[in-house]
Amino acid sequence: MQATFGRTKLVLVQGDITEQKTEAIVNAANSSLLGGGGVDGAIHRAAGPKLHEECLAIRAKQGGCPTGQAVITGGGNLVAKYVIHTVGPIWHGGTQNEPDLLYQAYSNSLNLAQENQIRTLAFPSISTGAYRFPIREAATIALRAVKEFVEKYPDALDEVRFVLFSSNDLQVYEQTLHKFINTN
Ligand code: ADP
Repeated sequence: MQATFGRTKLVLVQGDITEQKTEAIVNAANSSLLGGGGVDGAIHRAAGPKLHEECLAIRAKQGGCPTGQAVITGGGNLVAKYVIHTVGPIWHGGTQNEPDLLYQAYSNSLNLAQENQIRTLAFPSISTGAYRFPIREAATIALRAVKEFVEKYPDALDEVRFVLFSSNDLQVYEQTLHKFINTN
């Protein structure tokens, strides 16, 4: 599915984020930046050891990445030139500021893209795997963060895509996007 938020193209696809040809892809990392399972493991495997080395260098400098923040590295062997690593919140039932932290993970990734003149960007569904954030609420937060960024910086980004791993996840994001288009 495709739509536009202002001048920015919004694309929802089912697929593997490591294969995207956008200038940058976003990694749902953990605070250690040392790699893990899920999309993080897939990105590190596809990008090769250079990615791990760059993450270690960031760790040495600033000691990891707090929840809601984002850091940037090169893309190693990926087609994407950059990887933006952000840390989404672990879902604890919704009482520990999880929605706000997820919003921050998206908006800080978008800010970092803009600071690095990145015009095309692919996101996975942050926090909805091992971190168990309910996907419907997560999709609403993700799309709201992109929409509000684009309203603030209408010329910053040519394309934002969400790469969903399962057809069910894609469906949830599509239904959420329909609501945005119909009500905004
Ligand atoms: P988190 O710890 O932030 O929840 P996960 O990696 O466990 O991160 O899951 C986030 C989402 O990424 C899940 O929906 C998972 O199915 C999906 N995912 C896993 N591998 C890939 C991949 N190669 N490309 C895109 N999405 C992926």
